Amino acid sequence: MKDIFEDLSDRELELLNIIHKKDMITKKGLQSLIAMPLTTLNRAMKSLIDKKLIVEIGVSESTGGRRAVEYSTTQKGIYVVGVDISRTYVSIVIMNLKMTVLAKEKFYMDESFSPQKTVKKIVNLIMKRLKELSIDKSEVIGIGVGTVGPLNRKKGIMVKPKNFFNESWKDVNLKEMLEKDTSISCFIDNGANTAALAEYLFGSGKSFKSIVYIHCGVGIRSAVITDGIVIRTINDSEDAFAHMIVDLNGEKCTCGSKGCIESYSSIKAIIKRFNLKSSIEKIKEEDYNALLNLKVKECDLAKEVINKGAKTLGIGLSNLIKLLNPELVILCGPLINNYKFYYDICIDTFNKNNYLNNKVVFSKGGEFKEDAIAIGAALMVIENYFKRSSY
Ligand SMILES: [Zn+2]
Repeated sequence: MKDIFEDLSDRELELLNIIHKKDMITKKGLQSLIAMPLTTLNRAMKSLIDKKLIVEIGVSESTGGRRAVEYSTTQKGIYVVGVDISRTYVSIVIMNLKMTVLAKEKFYMDESFSPQKTVKKIVNLIMKRLKELSIDKSEVIGIGVGTVGPLNRKKGIMVKPKNFFNESWKDVNLKEMLEKDTSISCFIDNGANTAALAEYLFGSGKSFKSIVYIHCGVGIRSAVITDGIVIRTINDSEDAFAHMIVDLNGEKCTCGSKGCIESYSSIKAIIKRFNLKSSIEKIKEEDYNALLNLKVKECDLAKEVINKGAKTLGIGLSNLIKLLNPELVILCGPLINNYKFYYDICIDTFNKNNYLNNKVVFSKGGEFKEDAIAIGAALMVIENYFKRSSY
C-alpha cells in the first residue's frame, strides 16, 4: 500500500499534502496556494482521483460566481494506526487518511507489563479492531508510536526510558517487534513530539507558526515546533525542558542535577515531596488522584506541594517563552486536565515573570486532549510518506 505514495509525482504529492491539511478545498483554492497551470493541475487531480487518494465531496457555497467542486482526501482504503506508549498506560487509535478516528483502545500498565507483554497486547488490540472495521492489513500504511525517550528513532529503539513500572524497559526495539508481529511498517518518535504535531497541523495550533507543547504527568514532557519544523533534542528526548535548572541549591533530581523543574512539578515529584513531609499519610504514585482530587481541599500540605510544583513550572515556562517566543503554549496531561488550580497558578506565575512582555496564547489541554499523542503518532506516518522521509 505504501508504494502508492512512492509512485506519485512530486506535484501530485504536494497537492495531496495540501488537500490533506485543508480537509476540503476547490481547484481555485489550490491554485491560490500553489503555482501550477490549470492543465497541469487538472492532470494531477485526475491522477489522484484515479488512484483513489482524493474524492469529490460536493460543491462549495455560491458566492455570486460559479459554484465549484470541493475535494478531500479519501475516507476509505488507506488507514493508519497511532499508538501512545506512556509510562502508565497505552492508547491506540485507528484513523483513515482524512484523519477520522475510527476506533480507540486504552489499557493501563502495572509492574507485569514487560515490553513483550505490552507489544503483544497492542498487536492483539490492533488486529481485533481492524477485523471489526473490516480493514485488511494491506490497507494500513503504517503504525506510528509516540513514546518515552531517549530514542534511537531511526532504528525504532527506546533506549533507556525512566519510570516504567516494569524494569525491563531498556533498549526495546519497538519497531522490530511491531513489524515482526504485524508485517506493517512502524515509525517511532517521542510522544511529546507526536502530540505537538497533531495540535500544530490539525488542532489548536493550526493557525500558529510556532508552538510549545508541555505534558505534565508522571514526568514533564515537552516539544517545540517552529515554522513546521520539530526542534529536536539530543537522542530525541522529551525531557530537556524538565531538566531546566531553576534552583541552584534545590531538590536533587533523578538526572543527578539539583533544582530541575522535574524535581518539583511532575506527579512523581509532588507525591515524593508530599510523602517526605507527611507524618501521617503516604500516597502511592499510581494513586495520585487521591492527592489531586480528594486531599487538596482539606490538606494544607497537599496544597503546598502542588503550589510549589505549579509555581516552578510557571518559572520554567517564563524562561522557555523568553527564549523561544512561541505564539502558542499548550499545557496538557493529568496535572493540567484534572486539576484547574495547578494550571491557574502556573499561568499566573508566568504572567508575573513576563518582563519581556511576550505575547503568547495558552491552551489548556489543546484540541485533542489525552488522544493527542496517539493521533499525532498516526499523523507522523502520513507525514513521513508525504515528505518522502527515509526512515
Ligand atoms: Zn533533572
